[in-house]
Amino acid sequence: MTGAQRQAVALFAELTGHDADGVWSAPGRANLIGEHTDYNEGFVLPFAIEHRTYAAAGMRSDGTVRVVSTFDGEPFSLAVSALAETFDGARGRAVASGAVPEWAAYPLGIAWAALAATGRDAADVPGVDIAFASDVPVGAGLSSSAAIEGAAASALNDLWSLDLGGLAIAKLGRTAENDAVGAPTGIMDQVSSTLGRVDAATFLDCRTLETASVDLGLAREGLALVVIDTQVSHAHSTGGYRDRRASCEKGAAGMGVPSLRDLTIVDLDRAERVLDDVTFRRVRHIVTENQRVLDTVETLRTAGPRGVGGLLVASHVSMRDDFEISTAELDAAIDAALAVGAIGARMTGGGFGGAALALVETGRVDDVAEAAGRAFAARGFAAPHTFTVTPSEGARRDA
Ligand code: ADP
Ligand code: MG
Repeated sequence: MTGAQRQAVALFAELTGHDADGVWSAPGRANLIGEHTDYNEGFVLPFAIEHRTYAAAGMRSDGTVRVVSTFDGEPFSLAVSALAETFDGARGRAVASGAVPEWAAYPLGIAWAALAATGRDAADVPGVDIAFASDVPVGAGLSSSAAIEGAAASALNDLWSLDLGGLAIAKLGRTAENDAVGAPTGIMDQVSSTLGRVDAATFLDCRTLETASVDLGLAREGLALVVIDTQVSHAHSTGGYRDRRASCEKGAAGMGVPSLRDLTIVDLDRAERVLDDVTFRRVRHIVTENQRVLDTVETLRTAGPRGVGGLLVASHVSMRDDFEISTAELDAAIDAALAVGAIGARMTGGGFGGAALALVETGRVDDVAEAAGRAFAARGFAAPHTFTVTPSEGARRDA
């Protein structure tokens, strides 16, 4: 039992005075390749990581959902029968008005979405207590939000006998996050967290929601994935994200297609003629990144993980020069990793700060951490936080 699992079990007992009916968990995720392609209906290739959020849960005889987390400490309760009036059509208003604490809107939003998706009546399901504990760092770009959603959804799936599969559970997470919490996110994080497999990544077509598990073969090849977290989040990250989304919409409109997913490499000559320079380069990133995701999947299947280094680096160069979302810290992290022999490295996540991901020989992990530390010190940047992430199993019942 990991520390976080033990904490969830202890917190449940402290809250209720009895043992939980079971423990469920879901992991955070990192993205191997496919950045800003999700909202363009394109392709992504994330993987679940070993850091997980645990939900110790048990049924109550009344119709109340009560949630508590080591993260907050204050339990929060809502009648199952009040979920609909709290969240229906609310788009985050219950959180904005202070009626529901933001963190509690994740699990309660899952309960609400689960009833709505399965057509269950509030009167048909028992109340539940759920205690959460996690070792997913919050706000570090590893999707602690998908982890708490997946853990809550897995617990309710069993306790309420909903019989939902992995993709349906992922959709509950998206609904909770978009409509209960009010955060406009795609479904990549939840798909990765629910469908992850050991030493594999999850290919997702964000248009069709088709998924495929793709073996990474890291263990066999003696390779590791290293996160170099710059711990820098630039002030313009939200505005920058919005601006890039707008550029993509402008590019699609200029090219006369519903979304950039509808363009391929052969369309880039025309794009260069009809679009302004900035919009063209934004479009080129999306179009080439989609192709790189497909090429990465193909390369993993045929040549194995040592073959994908060039694709990872090309992805970074595209984000740095065409999409312009990298930072001096991220570029320094990538250069440092490559200089000590990383097979490939790229910034990962939305950009304007955050983390880089490097594919390295297991024996070189410490070299990468040291090299990144030295590079940051030489440039006067605050020290980065470097750690490995191991592609792991998705949402599950643990006990
Ligand atoms: P991330 O990149 O980590 O997903 P988000 O802002 O999307 O960042 O989600 C973080 C939020 O999710 C936290 O501020 C909190 O409201 C909620 N959250 C995540 N993990 C937990 C947890 N273990 N307990 C309570 N709330 C959590
Ligand atoms: Mg999140």
